[in-house]
Amino acid sequence: MRQRRVKNLETKYEEYEDILIRDPSDMRGRWSERSGGCPVYVEIGCGKGRFISELAAREPGHFFVAIEGNMSVMLRAMEKIREKGLRNVVFTPEFAEDLSEWFADGEVQGIFLNFSDPLPKNYWYRRRLTYRNRLLSYFRVLAEDGTVTFKTDNTGLFEWSLQEIMAADLKVLEITRDLHAEAMSIEDPEERAAFNIETEYEAKFTGLGEKIKRVVIGRKDGKGAGNMNTSIAAFNGRNIRSSIADSLTDALKADEDCKSETVRQLFGEDHPKSFTEMIMAPGKTEAVRLVISGYSCPCDRVLMSSAHDPVYDLIAEDLGRSAECFSLTDEKGEPDLADIGYRIGKLLRNQQHLTIIYDASACAAENGPEAQEILREICRVLNAADPGKKIAFLTVIDDCDAAEMARSGGIHPLDGLRSNVLPLITGSLPDACQAGRPGAFVMCLAYSPETADEFVRVSAFSAAASWTIRKTGHNFE
Ligand code: SAH
Repeated sequence: MRQRRVKNLETKYEEYEDILIRDPSDMRGRWSERSGGCPVYVEIGCGKGRFISELAAREPGHFFVAIEGNMSVMLRAMEKIREKGLRNVVFTPEFAEDLSEWFADGEVQGIFLNFSDPLPKNYWYRRRLTYRNRLLSYFRVLAEDGTVTFKTDNTGLFEWSLQEIMAADLKVLEITRDLHAEAMSIEDPEERAAFNIETEYEAKFTGLGEKIKRVVIGRKDGKGAGNMNTSIAAFNGRNIRSSIADSLTDALKADEDCKSETVRQLFGEDHPKSFTEMIMAPGKTEAVRLVISGYSCPCDRVLMSSAHDPVYDLIAEDLGRSAECFSLTDEKGEPDLADIGYRIGKLLRNQQHLTIIYDASACAAENGPEAQEILREICRVLNAADPGKKIAFLTVIDDCDAAEMARSGGIHPLDGLRSNVLPLITGSLPDACQAGRPGAFVMCLAYSPETADEFVRVSAFSAAASWTIRKTGHNFE
């Protein structure tokens, strides 16, 4: 969204050509030429420039790029820099989108977001500057130890942003919900002044009695940006300390006999070509919880078939997600295949991760053999979906009809979906396996062995936090 360029504004801008970078993509990979080798910092939405002008004066050895989409407020910021005679700030009159178009990997040392627009309507959330994809894009251009500092008076935006930081698997390095009180507690005046530079909005909202919140965000130790690309899980497969991970995964994983019996029940004699792993769960409800918590992000919508166990809604709500349903039948009572594509498309436009729960047992009870047609359609849509999105697709089979569906080959479309889709099946353990074991299984049909391993790790993480697992054979207590 570009601000309309008012003519006399352009004339005024002519005076500032020396500090304007109108086409920052031209500078990509070459910023150090302009900064004279000094580390580069970026402020997105500098407004009238009080913050950037004070910071630049205080840090002559740093170089600053101020980005602001509103050209008339940016004019005020440029005036300030001129008045102070600063030579370490340049301006880009644009609304920033993907910073990696303007900066090469690692070229930026720090990013400041001060009083970014809260965009309160829910459907605007992807445009917020602290939306998870934006955060990840910042870390593509940030140096290894680079940070994003975000300051706001808006409590809702702040708390929402913390969830986004978690969803992007980044780390909170510093956090305060009352920045000014914290500043006051610093005795040394110089240190106190350096602790916070007030912005124009900050002065205004503090005057109105609002508390200022600030968070400094960094990478988790030893992690580069972009490793989310190889992971389907919403938290990068969660790094569980290996001391506990090994015993947990051992306790959760099904033994080979039990796994091969379950595979045989589901697929008959043709072995699936995907990489299978299988874990035990106390029941299918716990399996659903585990999949939602591992493969969707806080605030995401989880897509469920309209016929489903109502407990799934509670689970979604409890985990801070919400549920959306696709309808199974149209007005004529025919399977409503169009709605599946529509819902999946809509949710994938809005979120990076999508968990789909198809309660085939509930559907089979209602729709009989059409349950298979629905499964095929979901697989077809998923294979055509944006490959950059991460999708976990859980099919719940539990009663006789669903088991019949499995036996008749109905489950086969799940085998061999694309690499960004993780098909999962949960159901009761086959009769032959039940003695001494928990009631349910979750099996993945992963594209790669890494995704299958990740499934076990993610499951162990969620399970450890909610069930008591004791390694005595395969028992849960
Ligand atoms: N940082 C200033 C202004 C805050 S208001 C202060 O604290 O006083 C938020 C500012 O961000 C507005 O001026 C708006 O034009 C700008 N802005 C919002 N989205 C932007 C984007 N994507 N790129 C550049 N500027 C943006």
